[in-house]
Amino acid sequence: MLDRYGREIDYMRISVTDRCNLRCRYCMPEPIDALGHGEILRYEEILRICRAASELGVRKFKVTGGEPLVRADCVSFIAALKRQSGTEQVTLTTNGLLLGKNLDALAAAGLDGINISLDSLNAERYTRISGHPEGGELLKRIMQAVEDACAMGLRTKLNAVLLEETEEDAPELAAIAEELPVDVRFIELMPIGFGTAMRRVSPDDILSALRKRWPDLAPTDERRGNGPAHYYKSDLLLGRIGFIDAVSHKFCADCNRIRLTSAGQLKPCLCYADSADLRALIRGGCTDDELREALKISIYNKPRAHCFDTCAAVTERHAMSQIGG
Ligand code: SAM
Ligand code: SF4
Repeated sequence: MLDRYGREIDYMRISVTDRCNLRCRYCMPEPIDALGHGEILRYEEILRICRAASELGVRKFKVTGGEPLVRADCVSFIAALKRQSGTEQVTLTTNGLLLGKNLDALAAAGLDGINISLDSLNAERYTRISGHPEGGELLKRIMQAVEDACAMGLRTKLNAVLLEETEEDAPELAAIAEELPVDVRFIELMPIGFGTAMRRVSPDDILSALRKRWPDLAPTDERRGNGPAHYYKSDLLLGRIGFIDAVSHKFCADCNRIRLTSAGQLKPCLCYADSADLRALIRGGCTDDELREALKISIYNKPRAHCFDTCAAVTERHAMSQIGG
C-alpha cells in the first residue's frame, strides 16, 4: 500500500529474537536484558501479522534479529513464511556463525537470499569488534559458509559496517567479490543504540580507497534487492560493491520498509520510538480486520524522513539488536 507520502511499502524486516551469539561493539557490546519467552512473538503470531501485511501489499520479508539462527526452529519458520500465500520473497540476515549447518535446510525452505554481516577479515580486529574471543576461528567458519552458499546458488551478500578501526579492511573485504559472485556492501554507521557514540567513516572515502585497486569501479543503477544500497561494478569483480549510506545520502523518499520487533512492535521508521503494539492487539483477541487496520494506520503514517542529522531528535532508545537493523 501507499503511505501518505505516496511511497509504496512492500517490505518488512522481522526480528525473531533479541538474543545474539556475538557482542558487536556498535550493536550489543554488553549483555542487554533479553526478553522473556512469553514476551517475544510466537511464530504463529508473526505469521499472522505477515498474512495481514501481505494483504496490504507487503510481500517481501527479511528475517533478522538479534541473531535469527539462535532461535529454535527459525528455519521451519522461514519455510512456513515462504509457503504462506501472499509471500513473494523471504531473505535472511545473519552473522554467519550458525549458517553452515543450516544451509541445506534453508535452501530446502526456499530462502531467496542471505545477507551475512562481516566487518573485517583480520582475525584480531574481528575478535575485537565481534566481542568473541575466537574471532579467527569464526572467520574461517563464516567464509566457509559464504563459499558453500555461493556453491549452492543462494544469492549471497556481505555487509560490513564502516568503522574507524576497520577502514583499512575495506579493499580486502571487497576483494571477496573477485573470487565469489557476492555483492559486498558497506553500511554507514547509524546513530542508533551503541552506534550513537561512535565516529562515522565516510563511505566516499572508502569508495576512493577501493578505486585505487579497481580504477574502473563505476556506478550502476541495477536494482539488486529490496534495499536502498547503491552499487558500483568493475570488470574485475564477479559481484558488485554496494553502499548503504543512510546518514550522508538520505534515501527516505524511496523508503519501502517497516519493521516488526521480536516484542511485536511495528516500527514505521528506524529512528523514532513510535510503534504500534501488535502483540497487545493480537493477545487481546483482535480480529483479522482489526489487525490489518492497525497495520494500515501505522504504514500510512510512516514519517517522511529520519532525523539522523540531528541526533537529539532521534527518539529510538533501543539497541539495534532489539530492533533488527
Ligand atoms: N545478527 C544479524 C547480523 O548481524 O546480520 C542480524 C541482526 S543485525 C542487528 C542486522 C544488521 O544491522 C547487521 O548487518 C549489523 O551490522 C547492522 N547494524 C547493527 N548496528 C548498526 C548501526 N549502529 N549502524 C548500522 N548498522 C548496524
Ligand atoms: Fe549480534 Fe548482529 Fe548485533 Fe552483531 S550486529 S551483536 S551479530 S545482532
